Amino acid sequence: MTVRWGRCFNFRRCNDAKEMQTVPIPTGAPFVCPECSETLLDEYDIALKMDRFATREKSSFTLMATVSVALLVAGVAGFAAWWGRAHSVSTAE
Ligand SMILES: [Zn+2]
Repeated sequence: MTVRWGRCFNFRRCNDAKEMQTVPIPTGAPFVCPECSETLLDEYDIALKMDRFATREKSSFTLMATVSVALLVAGVAGFAAWWGRAHSVSTAE
């Protein structure tokens, strides 16, 4: 018998959901929670979503890193420009 693993997200009324239980549903049977009759979410789908979420997190982290490096470079460049100006002013006087 093949089963499909589902997760119930009816946290308000269902103990299976509260306990984060995965419920085995035989193929062909309605994909609903045996405790509260709420439609279940497929474990596989959840894994896919988490995966996509993780990928997005990673890309936003890369963006953050790029932005901070750019800011750092801009800061160093700004400081160098300021330092150069201050230095040229002090030598001119
Ligand atoms: Zn349920």
